Amino acid sequence: MLDIRVEETAKLKEKPDQSALGFGKYYTDYMFEIDWDKDQGGWHDARIIPYAPLQIDPATMVLHYAQETFEGLKAYRNPEGKVQLFRPEMNAKRMQNSNKRLCMPYLEVEDFVQAVSALVEHEKDWIPTAPETSLYIRPFMFASEPGVGVHPAVSYKFLIILTPVGNYYPEGVAPVKIWIEDEYVRAVKGGTGFTKCGGNYAGSLKAQEKAEAHGYTQVLWLDGNEKKYVEEVGSMNIMFLIDDTVVTAPTEGTVLPGVTRDSMLTILRDWGYKVEERKLPVEELMTAGREGRLKEAWGTGTAAVISPVGELYFKGEEVVLNDFKTGPLTQKLYDTLTGIQWGKLPDPHNWIKVID
Ligand SMILES: *Cc1c(COP(=O)(O)O)cnc(C)c1O
Repeated sequence: MLDIRVEETAKLKEKPDQSALGFGKYYTDYMFEIDWDKDQGGWHDARIIPYAPLQIDPATMVLHYAQETFEGLKAYRNPEGKVQLFRPEMNAKRMQNSNKRLCMPYLEVEDFVQAVSALVEHEKDWIPTAPETSLYIRPFMFASEPGVGVHPAVSYKFLIILTPVGNYYPEGVAPVKIWIEDEYVRAVKGGTGFTKCGGNYAGSLKAQEKAEAHGYTQVLWLDGNEKKYVEEVGSMNIMFLIDDTVVTAPTEGTVLPGVTRDSMLTILRDWGYKVEERKLPVEELMTAGREGRLKEAWGTGTAAVISPVGELYFKGEEVVLNDFKTGPLTQKLYDTLTGIQWGKLPDPHNWIKVID
């Protein structure tokens, strides 16, 4: 249990118009912060304080060596007006795994969930109520020790900030064009692909730029060793309906173990679908596309929930899926998962944590 003190501010911001929230445009009045210092015995001084810029030394190690991890989850208002989270312990555990890989200390699962719940509850007036909206929660942690030698830092800051959001894509759930990248790679065996660390994203921007220059929205990464198997999209896992089987990459070190991925696989198995977590060669995928056996494909992640794939591009060849329309299984998955998250459908797996 953390002992969290609250520092109130008299000056509250004006709440934004719920019909034009966008994604990550507005931040709430408060943030959570806790420090970790080796010479002070670890975690100390948990606090909810007014949202404000941080003041850090120019030598702060994260700015030089990128010892940083983060998480992303959402708080929802259910039809009774209660505030709920979706599987927050999974984010807590994943952040522990990220931090271990980057030689960083980590919060206990209960403490992570307590900190998230306490801040969300304090800021509950910021949870939007319009359809398709939620409060996006961004926990993150970084090396705060000043120094220019490479070593695991002896001090860290863990923070949580909140931003009310609408749809991730301004056009809503609509098919996207995906560029399968055959030059740059995101992750290799033994690397940091399974972690949510900022460095993974810095390294991915070049391919994203390239995809956009060719008129594509997102990059689909191949494995970093052979560039043969499909792994995941920029900030989403990806699933394919080939004939009557759902195929997705296994999470074996190079793929981020998404909470949305796990939840959708569970729902698909509940529905009796054949689900395969296996290495899928890009050649097999393109052949299935060419032969019309690739029925649907969709990206999965907390931010966008589901992103239908309308087109795949690989080495000069384009494959259009389902006439560039959202497929029936993709739509049903979106409706079911968001129905559970917004508290409109039953929650058979106890994924929802009502906090207030
Ligand atoms: C966050 C993320 C995902 C999706 O994970 P969720 O827990 O479903 O939000 C997928 N891939 C990458 C690279 C990510 O950073």
